[in-house]
Amino acid sequence: MIGDMQKWTPNVASIIEHAKQFHPTKEVVSRMVSGDIHKTNYEEVCIRARKLASALEKDGYKPGDVIATLALNTYRHLEMYYGISGMGAINHTLNFRLHPEQAIYIINHAEDKIIFCEVPFIPILEGLKDKLVTVEKYIILCDESEMPETGLKNAISYEEYLKDGDEDYSWADVGDDAACALCYTSGTTGNPKGVLYSHKSNILHAQAALTAMSIKPDDSILMVVPLFHVLAWGIPYFGPMFGLKLVMPGMQMEGEPLYDLIDKEDISLAFGVPTIWMGLLAYCRENNKILSSVKNTIIGGSALSLSTLQEFDEVHDVNVIHAWGMTEMSPLGTTNIPTPEMEHMSKEEKYAIQLKQGRPIYGVELKVVDDSGTDLPNDGESQGHLMVRGPWILQKYFKAEKDAVDKDGWFDTGDISVLDEDGYMTIKDRAKDVIKSGGEWISSIDLENAAFGHPEVAEACVVGIPHPKWDERPLLFIVTGDGEPVEKESILDFLSSKVAKWWLPDDIIFLKELPHGATGKLQKFELRDEYNNHYMEK
Ligand code: AMP
Repeated sequence: MIGDMQKWTPNVASIIEHAKQFHPTKEVVSRMVSGDIHKTNYEEVCIRARKLASALEKDGYKPGDVIATLALNTYRHLEMYYGISGMGAINHTLNFRLHPEQAIYIINHAEDKIIFCEVPFIPILEGLKDKLVTVEKYIILCDESEMPETGLKNAISYEEYLKDGDEDYSWADVGDDAACALCYTSGTTGNPKGVLYSHKSNILHAQAALTAMSIKPDDSILMVVPLFHVLAWGIPYFGPMFGLKLVMPGMQMEGEPLYDLIDKEDISLAFGVPTIWMGLLAYCRENNKILSSVKNTIIGGSALSLSTLQEFDEVHDVNVIHAWGMTEMSPLGTTNIPTPEMEHMSKEEKYAIQLKQGRPIYGVELKVVDDSGTDLPNDGESQGHLMVRGPWILQKYFKAEKDAVDKDGWFDTGDISVLDEDGYMTIKDRAKDVIKSGGEWISSIDLENAAFGHPEVAEACVVGIPHPKWDERPLLFIVTGDGEPVEKESILDFLSSKVAKWWLPDDIIFLKELPHGATGKLQKFELRDEYNNHYMEK
């Protein structure tokens, strides 16, 4: 028997309409490229998004067209999230740190028709334009009076384009399971792969996220996570959905400007990746600043370290919520919100739990399996391939012929994890990064976190390098606080107290900086390639 309730074919634009109606004056604050602070609110964002949707329609663009953004976290990017998807087109967010070859591949593969481009990124597109076969028009994110000279085809300023738009535009009826947005994974091998989200999956994800991150209606959110990376963890949807004040840092993501925004805008909840917070904490440390308004910070994208957690808690009295997810999951899979039991625990016990990636949010199923695909117990010890299933997890990659899931709908995340009896998931490694030494596994993440606790260590990276006796052995790369090498023995002594003896790296290399990819993640393959013979030659 079918239920008697109404059929639901949602358009994400219903979110910004809701915000306009019920939270019209809630602020949306952006640091613009010039460094100036711009303030608007959900009512204005909604009206301008309607104008954008209508301008696109008048210009001949249709539902299903792919329209790209090469943009920073500002109110205009938020408007594009709604204006593009709301008229039925697909909002394709591009990462400005992509390697040119990857950017060309992605834009052509997606068949982008328009690219909305921030002024400082014009040179990037001018360098690629002759190879972008589907792009018909470039819309530059500035006022008419600020429009620079450019050789980009049919270039027009955003504000001029918007002028043709209708404030009373009615959003498209997008139909069931219609596509809404597109992101490409930052794959380290092979071509990047597209993940095509639907209106429904984005709304369901946003609703679930709201229940899983200790968010309160009066929170002021600092969204440092980029709008170009996995839909900024759903914030552009759940922020307006819940009427949260939204603050965006634009281009300035260093410690000082971030502190300034947090202080002036009274931020209570901040979202970002560990490297961003390391910069902010360092700034606070060096300038005797305290993050007094911040109650919670959500950290994900790569593993949270004990020293970051401790500094947030002990110096700033900020609660850290560790989260895990991936592009293929919209992205949220697990979060680590405090439980009532944790209030009675010692700091050490509490930290041990907070460092785990958390428990699944409602809607996401998790399991770990061994190499043959057999389920492993949730015993806190058995590590295996982490598999996921749920309504905002992809079925297949964009334009792929085959599904990316097994016959029961499970998607292999590529992460090696442990699940425990209480439902917590801990990432041990990426499957391709785990170090196989003499038939046993060493977690490069655990080793990095251990090294990170050493007072001289600013950044650490561990990779498995071929070894004549043990197949692979760990090699540790360190960037110190002042960039100068320290005694290897002091690092090894420190590590001996934290990890098993056979886990100790066979060598340590000091670098001035580590290679990071377009989304800030360590590019371990670069170090693996460069140092591939390090142990063989010894
Ligand atoms: P991306 O699709 O670029 O967001 O990358 C997703 C991958 O980032 C995951 O599969 C994990 O390997 C890694 N990742 C995300 N969050 C965390 C976390 N909290 N701890 C460790 N690794 C993480």
